[in-house]
Amino acid sequence: MKGSQGIAISVEESKNEDQVEKSQRPKCLLTPSLLSKKLLCPAFVSKPYMAEPRELRQQFGILTRMSIIKTIMALTRKGYRFMQDEEPSGQFTGTVDLVFESPDGHPTKVEVKSSKFLKQLQIVQSILYHEIGDKIVVASFNEILEPCDWLIEPVKSTAAELNQFLQEYPQQATQIYIPHRDLCERCENAECSRRVRAMQRDHQE
Ligand code: SF4
Repeated sequence: MKGSQGIAISVEESKNEDQVEKSQRPKCLLTPSLLSKKLLCPAFVSKPYMAEPRELRQQFGILTRMSIIKTIMALTRKGYRFMQDEEPSGQFTGTVDLVFESPDGHPTKVEVKSSKFLKQLQIVQSILYHEIGDKIVVASFNEILEPCDWLIEPVKSTAAELNQFLQEYPQQATQIYIPHRDLCERCENAECSRRVRAMQRDHQE
């Protein structure tokens, strides 16, 4: 989704993840929500979700809920058993939206998004909730994906390395601009020289 419709959110983000988990989180560890964005562009700066108009947030809250219900129905039809919502998951101390048991008995964690189709950013974020032995799935309104094992480990290891890098080189990181279509529209880095160009390009496509 683009423009003012471009806020694809998860249940977690709709509760403002950065606030919710503040108390339990080691100071040096970024949330999966923020770390996934910095994995695509280290200089990314979050635009606060609460700064969006209330009417828009309300409607996205409803859309997220619809996405959750659709995901539960789709996975139940495939033989998964719903266990619970919102469970802490992964080395980055995130909270995943839904937990199921797969038909072959594996815990399956599902990150749910309100966008119509999945974006790269959402797939990266979902991988940060993965735990060894569990399956991880990301769902949007019209798509469900289980990221491949060959993608999961490189994303998790790069994320851990980037988290460390951001502590060691905070100043340099604020100037590493790598435009990405899932990000620039939601970024508040006023110093970024690539921002206007990237947004113009995305709107032309
Ligand atoms: S606007 Fe600049 S800093 Fe923000 S995500 Fe795009 S390239 Fe990165």
